[in-house]
Amino acid sequence: MNSNQSGTLYIVATPIGNLGDMVPRAIETLQSVSAIACEDTRHSKKLLDHFRIDKPLVAYHDHSDKTSSYKILKRLASGQDIALISDAGTPLISDPGYRLVLAAREQGFAVVPIPGACAAIAALSVAGLPTDKFRFIGFLPAKSSQRIKSFEQLKGVDETMVFYEAPHRILECLKDAIAVFGGAHIGFIAREITKTFETYLYGTLAELLVKVETDSNQQRGEIVLVLGASEITTTATSVDDERLLRLLLTELPAAKAAALAAKITGGDKKQFYQMALAQKG
Ligand code: SAM
Repeated sequence: MNSNQSGTLYIVATPIGNLGDMVPRAIETLQSVSAIACEDTRHSKKLLDHFRIDKPLVAYHDHSDKTSSYKILKRLASGQDIALISDAGTPLISDPGYRLVLAAREQGFAVVPIPGACAAIAALSVAGLPTDKFRFIGFLPAKSSQRIKSFEQLKGVDETMVFYEAPHRILECLKDAIAVFGGAHIGFIAREITKTFETYLYGTLAELLVKVETDSNQQRGEIVLVLGASEITTTATSVDDERLLRLLLTELPAAKAAALAAKITGGDKKQFYQMALAQKG
């Protein structure tokens, strides 16, 4: 089906924050194609201007009307090479492109990746959690009840789990994860990867919740949440109450620390308060 005159569709990864992560082959490819399909032409223009790439931009979304993919396929059929980029990272990974790639494949066009940054893979590479098997889930539902349902479906999964989460939902998301997996479950948060304020937090979900709740900076920017497989939770069957409380007391007054510890563990607030006074005293 693929005649020699047909163009190639290049799926080109772009940086997830640090422009230094643009790979040379991505620049060469974007300079060589006839047009670049992207999610948001204004957003992509800034990136392309930075690399002095001046090509016609065409907007593409998986759910926009079929004319945008039709136009791209028509260009491929006429022998033009086309590149697809997304706002950041690897196209198709929680980003548009799947329908276009499928249509291009079905019509016999060559589809070639130009690999580069991907937030999920970058987070996984530094999480310290098993990577021999992992499950990419991407974005969780925005509603807590739906999110809990999603987590429940993942309970017992023997693979490391990777999620994308919005910063304004990370706190609620951690609380929901604790409700399903327990506070002793191991997790990892990669925030603002490759950017100025990048942070990496590793610990039990209870510890992560404390860190995120007591430092509002942890509720800003772009976030990848990684959860360990069920079998690699800490050996403790429940959160170590005293350790949790000690951690909370480094950031909060006794009453607040006790209330939060009770919320996290499901324990008794008064008992935690007594423990907090004892620890402080
Ligand atoms: N296609 C992209 C990729 O390859 O990673 C992902 C696009 S998805 C629409 C955007 C989400 O990816 C963000 O909400 C965040 O969860 C994650 N993300 C993207 N850049 C990130 C970064 N620099 N640090 C942490 N997470 C990031």
